[in-house]
Amino acid sequence: MRLRLPEERPTEPPTGYKIAHPVLSHDGTRAGFTGVSLGGALPYGVLDEARCVYGRRHRSPHRRCDCGFHCVHESAVAEAMLCTAEHRAAVLLEVSVLGAYIRFERGFRYARQRVRGATVGPCDCGAVAAALADAGWGRPGWRVLTAACAGCVRGRTSLSLASFARLAGEGLRVRAATGPVAVTGSLGVSELVAEAALLQARLDWFQSQLTRLQEPGTQG
Ligand SMILES: [Zn+2]
Ligand SMILES: [Zn+2]
Repeated sequence: MRLRLPEERPTEPPTGYKIAHPVLSHDGTRAGFTGVSLGGALPYGVLDEARCVYGRRHRSPHRRCDCGFHCVHESAVAEAMLCTAEHRAAVLLEVSVLGAYIRFERGFRYARQRVRGATVGPCDCGAVAAALADAGWGRPGWRVLTAACAGCVRGRTSLSLASFARLAGEGLRVRAATGPVAVTGSLGVSELVAEAALLQARLDWFQSQLTRLQEPGTQG
């Protein structure tokens, strides 16, 4: 006789929270996320299916493996993970838990996931994030992005929060932790103002670089 756990049949997918690093494909055509610990080697899209991180041929989540997407029930628990030094640059995700799942006291391990929202913390300098910019590291084929304000983006590869949301697709909402909400789809006034500020900051930076190069006696 096999002992089975009670099966749940929720009327709508459970909500969970997790932290992850935003990623941009090397050709700039796709955006997604990558985990901070187990599964960090497998970037995922906004709507995606878990694969076994050990390459075993079973469906995730498998009872005798720890693969699958992971999340916690409480946003405060996920937010607390952002305090550690190595997770400071990660973003907070709100997800829908889809497909088969295993429920734990603190969260779920599960088969499919829709990322509904991402909250981006402040830039390194403390200002509200206007963009997600190249963090200087990544996974094969993917650049990891980190929060940047308009002043700190400089010449780095970057996307405004709204552009990241559009590229990631599936109706993803991206917002700065303490700033205006950047919504996907058609841009509102606040998103256009944010886009303009970002463009202006980048123009200023390029202009200053040009001026520096044109000054006599400076080396390029
Ligand atoms: Zn597995
Ligand atoms: Zn900054």
